[in-house]
Amino acid sequence: QSNLSTTYTFNSFIEGDCNRLARSAGFAVANKPGITSFNPLLVYGGVGLGKTHLVQAIGNEIKNGPEDKFVLYVSSEKFVNQFMDAIKDGNIKSFTNFYMQVDVLIIDDIQFFAGKGRTQEMFFHIFNHLHQNKRQIIMTSDCAPKDLMGLEERLLSRFKWGLTADLQMPDFETRIAIIRKKMQSEGIDIPTNVIEYLAYTVDTNVRELEGVMISLIAHASLNRVEISLDLAKTIMKNIVKDIETEVSIEYIQKSCAEYYGIKVEDMKAKTRKKEIVIARQVAMYFSKEFTNHSLKSIGYHFGGRDHSTVIHAVQSVNDLMETDASFRNAVQEQKKQFKIRSY
Ligand code: ADP
Ligand code: MG
Repeated sequence: QSNLSTTYTFNSFIEGDCNRLARSAGFAVANKPGITSFNPLLVYGGVGLGKTHLVQAIGNEIKNGPEDKFVLYVSSEKFVNQFMDAIKDGNIKSFTNFYMQVDVLIIDDIQFFAGKGRTQEMFFHIFNHLHQNKRQIIMTSDCAPKDLMGLEERLLSRFKWGLTADLQMPDFETRIAIIRKKMQSEGIDIPTNVIEYLAYTVDTNVRELEGVMISLIAHASLNRVEISLDLAKTIMKNIVKDIETEVSIEYIQKSCAEYYGIKVEDMKAKTRKKEIVIARQVAMYFSKEFTNHSLKSIGYHFGGRDHSTVIHAVQSVNDLMETDASFRNAVQEQKKQFKIRSY
């Protein structure tokens, strides 16, 4: 009984820059458990970024491998509870013996050990025994080891014997691949613009992205309608509070201000500092392209400027795009996002 879910495999775990190191270290461990230098392997990252999926994939890969290994997956919470029960029932010896027999111990969310001194001491002994006997230890946590408050130093120092790798939020392209894979495994076709819209708007974590996909599929099938952009937008509005589904001037200003590292107020102010002028002009240019506001109204939104200022801004941006390749790339990168949002 290894407590592994068979759906968590390497095949279903999409690779991207966000997880490359962790994934390939995991793969190496899966092929030579206990004898690579990645022992222990600690995978860390925020909620819903694939820690459990990845470590279970390692477990499944080993279980399906040529050698007969005792793989055990356990959440830290379960480990703590079992340990407490063992204390209560006077079974500590059998608890320890059980864990010391394991070939591959996968222990999830070790941040849960924080402040639990007795559990940490027990885990320390088990860890040492397993490590000395070249058994593989794989752990996850929700933050980097240095930020694991409440974990004893001697335990943390053991983690440095192996490899620590993080998981980040997948980028846009990787999110698209994740959605495609998921929809493919569900046997569902979804339009490309919906995929792009979801990949672009859900930038929190993969679990949330999956949640939105599941709602979308459920709504479409319950109401017997096709999966469409409108449906996706409605669902996003219901799930994610305050989401902006329209490209407004305010939205463009906020986005450009962020992109150029200035404040929205600066765009509206009189200042003629170079970075601010550029950001302001780019925001005007996008406002012209992505909203239905008149030149006059756009000028008004930028601190009551004249419509001729807006014309000049659009012209300047076009000129600069022709002569400056890196500026052009930056504008096009931003444009892609507005385009998806304004579908
Ligand atoms: P964590 O343990 O870090 O909170 P999970 O492993 O539970 O996150 O992942 C949340 C969901 O996202 C799972 O359904 C998982 O299959 C999926 N997921 C995360 N990363 C990926 C990825 N790179 N490719 C495919 N699915 C992923
Ligand atoms: Mg998890």
